[in-house]
Amino acid sequence: MHKKGVNMNYIKGLKCRECRREYAIKPIHVCEFCFGPLEVVYEYEAIQKEMTRRKIEERPKTMWRYQELLPLNGPPSVGKDVGFTPLIKADRLAEVLGVKEIYIKNDAVNHPTLSFKDRVVSVAVSKAKEFGFEVVSCASTGNLANSVAALAAEGGLESFIFVPHDLEQGKILGTLIYGTNLIGITGSYDEVNRLCSEIGENYKWAFVNINLRPFYAEGSKTFGYEIAEQLGWKVPKHVVVPMAGGSLITKIWKGFNELERLGLLDRVESKIYGAQASGSNPIVAAFKEGIDWIKPQKPKTIAKSLAIGNPADGFYALKTIRESGGFAEDVSDEEIIEAMKLLARTEGIFTETAGGVTVGVTKKLIEKGIIPRDESILISITGNGLKTQEAVQDRVGKPRIIEAKFSEFEKIVSPNQKRFKETILQASV
Ligand SMILES: *Cc1c(COP(=O)(O)O)cnc(C)c1O
Repeated sequence: MHKKGVNMNYIKGLKCRECRREYAIKPIHVCEFCFGPLEVVYEYEAIQKEMTRRKIEERPKTMWRYQELLPLNGPPSVGKDVGFTPLIKADRLAEVLGVKEIYIKNDAVNHPTLSFKDRVVSVAVSKAKEFGFEVVSCASTGNLANSVAALAAEGGLESFIFVPHDLEQGKILGTLIYGTNLIGITGSYDEVNRLCSEIGENYKWAFVNINLRPFYAEGSKTFGYEIAEQLGWKVPKHVVVPMAGGSLITKIWKGFNELERLGLLDRVESKIYGAQASGSNPIVAAFKEGIDWIKPQKPKTIAKSLAIGNPADGFYALKTIRESGGFAEDVSDEEIIEAMKLLARTEGIFTETAGGVTVGVTKKLIEKGIIPRDESILISITGNGLKTQEAVQDRVGKPRIIEAKFSEFEKIVSPNQKRFKETILQASV
């Protein structure tokens, strides 16, 4: 048996989010009695004694510095360097949007596969190894596929990955390279997911976002912990989060509240905002209609990583938004592209379509007066633009091709750009 403090196990067990029935730790995700989803619960009193700001700050700069609040029995077996991505103050973007203070949490440069999914998968694959599984699997809209393939390879596990067949090329290639079994399904993500549930009943595999979902989802909390720590143990007033299945938004909120409960944060007064694409907005639609159940949709948007028509955690995402006093909004494909370009031009960050959704929704909420201009705003950037090149391919212009001659170069410099000639000469004096 593991000793507490030595092997960092503060897990109490699993608990149904609906009827509160408790279960021992096993690879299960729904309550046998009420079919509610299961969630990991911890020994918070013991954690409070162990975890101080100082102790956390002394640890390596990875998501594992919050190890007491993650559901592993021992150290992670894969993804040891995941997390602690940059949190930057985005002054140029704030100026363009006409607000006082914007921060960006940038998981576009997460390690190893350039999206926030490395957080959830490093927990899920490490847990799969603790349980003794030999095969890991998932239903994915793309980023999860990349991450499961990479971290399964690192852990020496076999992987089977199921995706809609028409994903972006970067997401397909960025999965195949790791030597996985990639299966493209002629159907939507929701159909892929249904098929995976059926396969899971017949094959004893670790499906990271199905039977391991309670453990997987806990990894998302670290996105929230890092925001708080990197802002000097404070949380922003307004936090905008992209929603696919609705898990990340729920877990950022859970993460903030855990830190408050442990005395690591003074008071959580954040409002949480959910962002979706207009072509796949089941959670936003339910929020605006004022209902607490989700009407499934058939997604059609360039934001493929968020294209889930029947989100597993939609109900809890709605609850998070309402409980925190936030709002939900969506943007068109055109607004997504414009927002991707805006972020790149102002902050030098090339995000994927999902990031365009978050930036676009933030802009819209500011313009509508729902997010005030004089309070701190955090934008969650969850994925990298190099993976969704198709979306902006024809929208960024083309390089100008010339011969390697100075006279040819002089011909294409506009009269207005000639002023830079002077600037350079002066600077070099
Ligand atoms: C999966 C994903 C999300 C949202 O995840 P959920 O937890 O399912 O809501 C956000 N952004 C990107 C880039 C993703 O891949």
